Amino acid sequence: MRYFFHLLLFFVSTHSFAQECDDQIKKKHWNYRVNLSTFIAIKEGVDINPKYIYYDFMDLPIGVPFNYLDYINIKGYKYVDIDKNKLLEPAFHSYQEMRSKALRDGININIRSSYRNKSTQEYVFHKHGPKVAENPGYSEHHLLTTMDIHYCGENTKLFLWMLKYGADYGWIPTYFFRTGSYIRKESWHWRYVGADAAYWFRCTWNYQYQSEINRLQAVFGHI
Ligand SMILES: [Zn+2]
Repeated sequence: MRYFFHLLLFFVSTHSFAQECDDQIKKKHWNYRVNLSTFIAIKEGVDINPKYIYYDFMDLPIGVPFNYLDYINIKGYKYVDIDKNKLLEPAFHSYQEMRSKALRDGININIRSSYRNKSTQEYVFHKHGPKVAENPGYSEHHLLTTMDIHYCGENTKLFLWMLKYGADYGWIPTYFFRTGSYIRKESWHWRYVGADAAYWFRCTWNYQYQSEINRLQAVFGHI
């Protein structure tokens, strides 16, 4: 009986999310199911039509290679220092909330790296090259809303938790659902975009999200 109830709950929750991703949301779906990182865009000559671009809570585009520079200097948002890392206030508050919820579920979210200024990105870029690091000036790490999470590999329970609940807190894996063969999928890279944009992203990549969740739940069970 209990098992049946869980099964029922599973279907109800899956069903309702799919239902919520209705046509209204789908209209905003991005037609480019390609990787729009800097390299692909330049190399493949991808034409980025502004009407297909979705913007986050700071009016910054998601998934396209805009030159972000150091956004904090443009908008004047306040940021919070966390050890050696920094996050914009809205991202930090959401991070804290998400982190305590995860802890209650036995999951530990820790930041490995968040903000990088342009010269740090230059260092990372020259050390690791374009396969691993975004061009200096174009990295989401310039935004103060992006973090790499410790031990969040693509075969971890932590990644499963983030896929299931991250969007509820406004966090999305912007570099994971990319199709470019020579850009690596980053399960540890999460950007805070606010609840609305996260919801759009989750809907856009709904099928891929669900496949990953199913794959990981087969290993770790339902969380
Ligand atoms: Zn990253």
